[in-house]
Amino acid sequence: MPYDPENVFAKILRDEIPSTRVYEDNEFIAIRDVNPAAPTHILLIPRGDGPVSPANLGDPDAAWVGRMVVLATQIARQQGLEEDGYRLVMNCGRDGGQSVPHLHLHILGGRALHGFG
Ligand code: AMP
Repeated sequence: MPYDPENVFAKILRDEIPSTRVYEDNEFIAIRDVNPAAPTHILLIPRGDGPVSPANLGDPDAAWVGRMVVLATQIARQQGLEEDGYRLVMNCGRDGGQSVPHLHLHILGGRALHGFG
């Protein structure tokens, strides 16, 4: 699937629609999910017209994807989630429940998240 520059996260990255940013640097932004599935629900989004989904990743992406995961743990710690725990999720494609075609990592916490589905 080609990258669609009109997807909602591309618009958020261009500040064309508002978001609540909790973190940003030159590689990533982190925003609050508009429809939270947990008391804390943050989306970590790489800048630029990168991969549509995790299925598009390859070996050259390993370093920045690694940085994204480490950064997610730092944001979770900063949000006070570390003691009770939290969940990091990347949805992939239709059956994975992916609705926005710009790769992103969910950080979920603040309640017990047991099982899947
Ligand atoms: P996914 O289903 O994995 O593609 O995740 C997309 C997430 O983006 C969902 O949890 C949505 O609630 C969230 N979302 C969609 N539009 C916005 C928006 N404008 N601001 C913040 N989060 C959004």
